[in-house]
Amino acid sequence: MTTRRPLRDLYLELNERFWGGRLPRPLRVNEWLDIAIVDLPRFVTVRRVAIREGMRGPGPHHATGRFIHSRTAWPARIVVLSWRLIGTEQERRTLIHEMVHAELWFAGVREKDHGPRFVAALESLAAYGEEWVLEAVERYRVGKEDAR
Ligand SMILES: [Zn+2]
Repeated sequence: MTTRRPLRDLYLELNERFWGGRLPRPLRVNEWLDIAIVDLPRFVTVRRVAIREGMRGPGPHHATGRFIHSRTAWPARIVVLSWRLIGTEQERRTLIHEMVHAELWFAGVREKDHGPRFVAALESLAAYGEEWVLEAVERYRVGKEDAR
């Protein structure tokens, strides 16, 4: 399955498909040590975790993943529970969800959790065949955000 590749490879693929490559480049492990200070804001690390490491605390988060923005941690981070725990499709959907948080953060949108801008951005992915987003969007709109 494609989701058993490194998660950053899936991130690269999704970034091309849905965002035209506009989301930050995902750094390789330890690569950030070599990045010049001037480049700091525009990077993210992307990795799988086997426990809910880093998924508590304030800010946009999801029980199966979390985007940690670059004011809290540098580089910004996306962590997603491994497909071994949640399955390949849920892993992929969680990554997409967290990438929408990254999109908004790096576009300068400062919105708490799943507000109108988040919902609109997620919903726009339905046009790419990601129809599962419609169900998620509905939950956020009626305020029944669950812990998926
Ligand atoms: Zn979220």
